[in-house]
Amino acid sequence: MENVFVGLGSNVGDRLGFLKSAVQELGKLHATAIVRVSSIYETEPVGKKDQPHFLNMVIELVSALDASQFHSQCKEIERRIGRTRSERWGPREIDLDLLYFGRDRVSDGRLTVPHPEIADRRFVLVPMGELAPEWIDPVRRISIAQMLVACDDASAVTKTPYTTYTNSVEV
Ligand code: ATP
Ligand code: CA
Ligand code: CA
Repeated sequence: MENVFVGLGSNVGDRLGFLKSAVQELGKLHATAIVRVSSIYETEPVGKKDQPHFLNMVIELVSALDASQFHSQCKEIERRIGRTRSERWGPREIDLDLLYFGRDRVSDGRLTVPHPEIADRRFVLVPMGELAPEWIDPVRRISIAQMLVACDDASAVTKTPYTTYTNSVEV
């Protein structure tokens, strides 16, 4: 069983509804269970600035799938929830990025784990730091808390009062 961290984002349409659906779908994956979900943050777009603000969060799961199977399932959930836009860094209904898959390191052209941009993105580091500040990045060999201190990204990441619910239980 590996501890898996997934970064979720949405900046088109019913952003909160898309995040809730994605959390629910991730929790239903074969041989997989949700451990914890972060707060939901309203965030300024990074990189491509001329697009609506995002809602972002991070979810921790345990899974007996392997990284490649898990990533395929994430893409399938994106498709089911209705991701219609495919432009990289562009606006989207739902984006699921595989941040960490245990201590695994994967780089096969299709999939890169840990996700290569974690250290440069406050919208990932802040919710990830809420769940696992002491998690050691297997490539950089420093903790999430240390990565956050060292992060140059100054974009706004603001906690919202929104929550995701699964089966009426706050997760
Ligand atoms: P970024 O990856 O910088 O956040 P993005 O999320 O906008 O950019 P997408 O268009 O969603 O990029 O995905 C681009 C490609 O990245 C997809 O084909 C996807 O399979 C691949 N990919 C590689 N590594 C990962 C990973 N760790 N998590 C999710 N997708 C990944
Ligand atoms: Ca992304
Ligand atoms: Ca993505």
